[in-house]
Amino acid sequence: MTYEPYFTEEHEILRTTIRKFVAKEVTPFVEEWEEEGIFPLELLKRMGDLGFLGLRYPESVGGQGGDYFAGIVFAEELAKCGCGGVPMAIAVQTDMATPPIAEFGNADQQERFLTPAIKGDKLAAIGISEPNHGSDVASVETRARRDGDDWIINGSKMFITNGTRADFVTLVTRTSDEPGYKGISLFIVELDSPGVSVSRKLDKVGMRSSDTAELIFDNVRVPHANLLGEEGKGFSYIMWELQGERMIAAAGSIGMAEQAYELAYDYAKSRKQFNQPIANFQVIAHLLAEMKTEIEVCRELTYATAYRFSKGEVPSKEISMTKLAAAQMAHWVADRALQIFGGNGYMTEYPIERIWRDTRLHRIGGGADEVMKEIIAKQMGL
Ligand SMILES: Cc1cc2nc3c(=O)[nH]c(=O)nc-3n(C[C@H](O)[C@H](O)[C@H](O)COP(=O)(O)OP(=O)(O)OC[C@H]3O[C@@H](n4cnc5c(N)ncnc54)[C@H](O)[C@@H]3O)c2cc1C
Repeated sequence: MTYEPYFTEEHEILRTTIRKFVAKEVTPFVEEWEEEGIFPLELLKRMGDLGFLGLRYPESVGGQGGDYFAGIVFAEELAKCGCGGVPMAIAVQTDMATPPIAEFGNADQQERFLTPAIKGDKLAAIGISEPNHGSDVASVETRARRDGDDWIINGSKMFITNGTRADFVTLVTRTSDEPGYKGISLFIVELDSPGVSVSRKLDKVGMRSSDTAELIFDNVRVPHANLLGEEGKGFSYIMWELQGERMIAAAGSIGMAEQAYELAYDYAKSRKQFNQPIANFQVIAHLLAEMKTEIEVCRELTYATAYRFSKGEVPSKEISMTKLAAAQMAHWVADRALQIFGGNGYMTEYPIERIWRDTRLHRIGGGADEVMKEIIAKQMGL
């Protein structure tokens, strides 16, 4: 099936290239990386060398100069690698930590952070969540105080993907005593700065090939040159960032759901009970039909919303709807797929349980289901 008018022949060539790369250089190693709780940085470098980390960034900063749908293709295909951890870590690099630098950063910041991230020479993290503030971003407490040409940062950040070894973090901080969203600014903080420490590497239900850390900032001195954009505008910058993050999360959800569906389809055709493939049972065939329908509904919504986003619109209601629907659908499909696998589905030697665990996060990260519903309801006048 081709999805016009969103994808051109070039996108399909890119899709084939990424698919081959994933099959050869990612999937065979997923098991090992999940065991180890981290993937090797050589993978990041390899993706950088192949241009995958900057598909839609301009050539002037080292990107490939592609369009938004090139990024969607990458997110969808990488999501089918057999785990959610690697795609999530890479999405932090390409679609969460670096877009604010591309959008609001100056040439010096782009040269020091964006270009090395696109090349795979620097690993990026995004620091929004804190131990006491997750959904309520406007309440963050991490504080930056001006000291001459520098800022001194104190606070902590929670659940930071890539946090145990990232080179820098795009950090949400408070730069004034004004309450709520008004006093918030973004900084790029190098994580080898004195005063930065990883207080914990967090153990997780899923996404195990991606490391997650709690970071402490204890009197961390950051040059004023690392302030992103204008002081006090950080909240609007990070709300903008979250729109792209939600779009790419939706694309990843589609990819993972599609893989769960394909695994269940093949299993249902080959697994025999009562002297026939279980796919012959109408209840299983209809379940597969429903799973495929749900995937296609969410896919169309994702592409339609991505199209508007790619044209410069920021339709936050539709983006929230897309993220909500795709995240719920992916975990729903993974759950049904696990059911089709029966007892084998519950065994770690079959790939479906990992997809089931990993898609669970989609309903929490980047804005929980309930937060998406709040945004949608408000824009419906409720
Ligand atoms: C594996 C993993 C990786 C992550 N990576 C990063 C990262 O790299 N950087 C980063 O900054 N953060 C990261 N996060 C954090 C993630 O974005 C937050 O977990 C998420 O935003 C929810 O925040 P919280 O966990 O503090 O939940 P809370 O805000 O405490 O919310 C708990 C629950 O309350 C409900 N709720 C909250 N607000 C509302 C509301 N307004 N209306 C109705 N119900 C509500 C929801 O059900 C929600 O799930 C990661 C999290 C995980 C688990």
